Amino acid sequence: DWMSTRSEFAQPPVDLRTDIPHSARVYDYLMGGKTNYAPDRAAGDASARAWPSLPTSMKQARHFMHRSVRHLVREHGMRQFLDIGTGIPTPPNLHEVAQEIAPDARVVYVDNDPIVLTHARHLMTSTAEGRTEYIDADIRDLDSILGADELGNTLDLKQPVTLSLISIVHFVMDEDDPQGLVRRLMAELAPGSALAITVFTGDTAPQEVAGVGREYNERGIPLQIRSKADAERFFDGLELIDPGVTLLHHWRPDHTTEGVRDEEVAMYGGVALKR
Ligand code: SAH
Repeated sequence: DWMSTRSEFAQPPVDLRTDIPHSARVYDYLMGGKTNYAPDRAAGDASARAWPSLPTSMKQARHFMHRSVRHLVREHGMRQFLDIGTGIPTPPNLHEVAQEIAPDARVVYVDNDPIVLTHARHLMTSTAEGRTEYIDADIRDLDSILGADELGNTLDLKQPVTLSLISIVHFVMDEDDPQGLVRRLMAELAPGSALAITVFTGDTAPQEVAGVGREYNERGIPLQIRSKADAERFFDGLELIDPGVTLLHHWRPDHTTEGVRDEEVAMYGGVALKR
């Protein structure tokens, strides 16, 4: 129920494993956050040595999230979001971006990292008109997401929902069929729903990005680097909106993309609609 959910956020019955790096905390460190431990910082430093543009690329993913959410809310009337791979809360979070334009927007957040769970209360700051909820689940276990009461109680699945996957699918290996997972999730969503996704690539800085992959893999965080064709396959059966699948800073650029060069960005992004 509502109260017991909230108290779990305060005292998680989980082991944070601060002795090994976790992707959410390495990301937080490279983004300038404070929710990280020595092994996370070591992994972040080694990765940034392999590719000094990594923090720039990560920040572009965050900006892409902001632009894609605003676009969907403004131009497509989107009011519901399912954000998987939420990460350690970093303002503005998705619901804050959406609710700034549409206070009645509803967001369900999903992540499988215990430290994200312990910080989830910072995501429970919805407007009175809207709503936010958090599900502790793994994207590879779709039933645990689709079957969660929090999903059905927060989102009306008969109305359009945006599935938001920002900087997560490189942690899902090809053997777990991430394109298939996305296809199955989109199949559950109503016509008019959308997919917003970013996909890690080595196309712009092959050797450096391969170095980042090695640093993560050697520390026990498997990382998958993909081609543009791999990225485009996430959109099979969907209708891409302009400008299609591009490097993040080319997707509806604004002041946050100014001066960013292709070789500083290792992510494709795109937004598509389900007809
Ligand atoms: N979307 C956020 C955070 C990206 S960091 C942002 O753009 O800022 C990637 C997040 O994906 C981490 O929090 C990590 O815990 C989560 N993640 C990785 N593998 C996952 C999985 N299999 N299921 C759910 N979440 C996962």
